[in-house]
Amino acid sequence: MRTPVPPEGTRVLIVEDDDTIGRHLEAALRGHGYRTTWCRTGVNALAEARATPQDVVLLDLGLPDVDGIDVARTLRAELPGLLIVILTARSDEIDVIAGLDAGADDYLVKPFTLTVLLARLRAHLRRHPPDATRPEGPVRVGDLTVDTSARRCLLAGLEVALRPKEFELLAVLARNAGTAVSRETLMAQVWDENWFGPTKTLDVTLASLRRRLGEAADASPHSLALPQITTLRGHGYRLESLPPTTSPRPFDDPPQ
Ligand code: CA
Repeated sequence: MRTPVPPEGTRVLIVEDDDTIGRHLEAALRGHGYRTTWCRTGVNALAEARATPQDVVLLDLGLPDVDGIDVARTLRAELPGLLIVILTARSDEIDVIAGLDAGADDYLVKPFTLTVLLARLRAHLRRHPPDATRPEGPVRVGDLTVDTSARRCLLAGLEVALRPKEFELLAVLARNAGTAVSRETLMAQVWDENWFGPTKTLDVTLASLRRRLGEAADASPHSLALPQITTLRGHGYRLESLPPTTSPRPFDDPPQ
């Protein structure tokens, strides 16, 4: 009998710090038609899940930075439609219970066979097809549209030319519009998941992003609903929609 394939484009986020297991999972899932992203830390996994809609998260509990249980709890709170499957070397009943209580839908105790994992995924996806839960299409914040699949940024319908890092930075902020995004998340998401060090490049890119958006807004003959990128000192940034304005200082911080 032919093995059923997963729904087209089902996205699986693999959260696993063990290279051998991560590589194995990625190769196997791709071989079965899934689209995969692999993160080795909990912080990067949260950033990835917030930036790119996922259907399934395969979550290792023993991560190098944060506890997988906390990752499960955060993912469940922020993304109620996400399917969370815990992969754990801890066979203790208490860990399984904590994982399920934190919001996981299912769990597998390592070592598990790939056949069983794939069958569990198919069973879950039959009941909860990805298209029902995954937001699609461009993100709109006020008159700003960010279309990651087409890699386009539009302001009131007019294209704004952005450099690659400026676009990626804006895309992460737009997907999280209205909520604070930490500098660490932005660095991990836009630059390098193994990044650590100074974050001046983030400030430079953000300043030039603001400038380009501001210039595009100034060039518009219309009054625009301009999103604003607010600096949250000591934390990060927040993109938020403002009512239509003819203010000559779009995208700037409000006076402190
Ligand atoms: Ca681990």
